[in-house]
Amino acid sequence: MEQKTYIVRCGEVALKGMNKPYFERMLVDRIRRSLKKIGSGIEVRRDEGLIFVRTPLELEEEVTLKAITKVFGVASVSPAVEIDIEEGSAQDILDKIGAAAVDYMMNLIEKRGIKTFKVDAKRANKQFPVQSPEIGRIIGASVLKGCKVLAVDVHNPDCKLFVHVRRGKAYVFEQKVSGFGGLPLGTNGKGMVLLSGGIDSPVAAFMMAKRGMMIEAIHFHSYPYTSERAWEKVQDLASIVANYCGRFTIHSINLLPIQEAIVANCPEDEITILVRRFMMRLAERVAQETGCLMLITGENIGQVASQTAEALVVTDASVQMPVMRPLIAMDKVDIMDIAKEIGTYETSILPYEDCCTVFLPKHPSTKPKLPRILESESHLDVDALVEAALESRTSTVIYPQE
Ligand code: ATP
Ligand code: MG
Repeated sequence: MEQKTYIVRCGEVALKGMNKPYFERMLVDRIRRSLKKIGSGIEVRRDEGLIFVRTPLELEEEVTLKAITKVFGVASVSPAVEIDIEEGSAQDILDKIGAAAVDYMMNLIEKRGIKTFKVDAKRANKQFPVQSPEIGRIIGASVLKGCKVLAVDVHNPDCKLFVHVRRGKAYVFEQKVSGFGGLPLGTNGKGMVLLSGGIDSPVAAFMMAKRGMMIEAIHFHSYPYTSERAWEKVQDLASIVANYCGRFTIHSINLLPIQEAIVANCPEDEITILVRRFMMRLAERVAQETGCLMLITGENIGQVASQTAEALVVTDASVQMPVMRPLIAMDKVDIMDIAKEIGTYETSILPYEDCCTVFLPKHPSTKPKLPRILESESHLDVDALVEAALESRTSTVIYPQE
């Protein structure tokens, strides 16, 4: 049966010493799951440091590439022509590869009008008696003979033709489509992301998932000050994140009673930082209950009043659980670039209200001190407020958008 073949390179997974088989198995499993959504009869196999995907001919290349490249742990993918070289003399085998290379290039001439090329050969099977540079020269000569319009250009070719000779099979291919790299999902526990409707937190979730962490999310609203539409926006954002990290649960909590208690009992300039400490406490409680090991936020040092160094210290002091802030040292433009790349940006910038914009102080404290904040909190029944807020929790399963 004729099939399309794809060579998948594993980025960092390839560096994992003793644990390499575990990471590779996880990666194969993730690729299989992603491909299962686009069709049947797809085969995914590991073979000496690479992963080979074989699909039915009718499955579109673009769709397959997309499904593979969005899997964390994939460094790059190449659609390739696979040549069976199980039998025959070295000469026969090189003739066979040469013929396949000619067909491949004819197709590129027709499709893209390429005029120059260069062969890059690699011999993974060291038992094959012809060395890589010689393989390159022989296949280059075959292509020149079979495709009269082509010339060799070693410096700036229109097409770099890769030839890989492995045990029993050889491959010719041209492009390498980049993946995200990272590590396969599920290799690094689960984290609770505080997901707002903004630009940053979906990117933070994506970045932790990219390192193999499963995601669960919590969102705070101030209904009726925040609308149903704002909550829908958050769910839309979550489902885009789920395209990469798979289905996950988002917990939603009404923060309004806490905000009102703070406004009524504490200094105005401390409202934001006090609210943030409650968010953390609530997130930690739900995280503990759902098996999350850490909290994840989209905070970024110096971005706003609540994210100065002093404010972050005071925020952290409200919880025991480690708080991951993958965007901490990034510039906003770079965060925005990632948001655009993963497809969350357009939804993030939709203008719906967030609970943080309700009761915004005119002059928020940028250098809060913990003793003063604790003093302000002593005017609140923190435990009772937390318990009551947890009562308002609803949990929704978010499915990938695509
Ligand atoms: P973002 O673009 O993620 O909204 P931001 O720059 O607007 O970030 P803040 O509003 O100060 O920053 O929030 C900082 C972080 O706190 C967010 O990245 C998110 O992790 C968390 N957060 C803020 N608002 C909410 C909310 N309504 N629900 C859940 N988490 C929130
Ligand atoms: Mg925000």
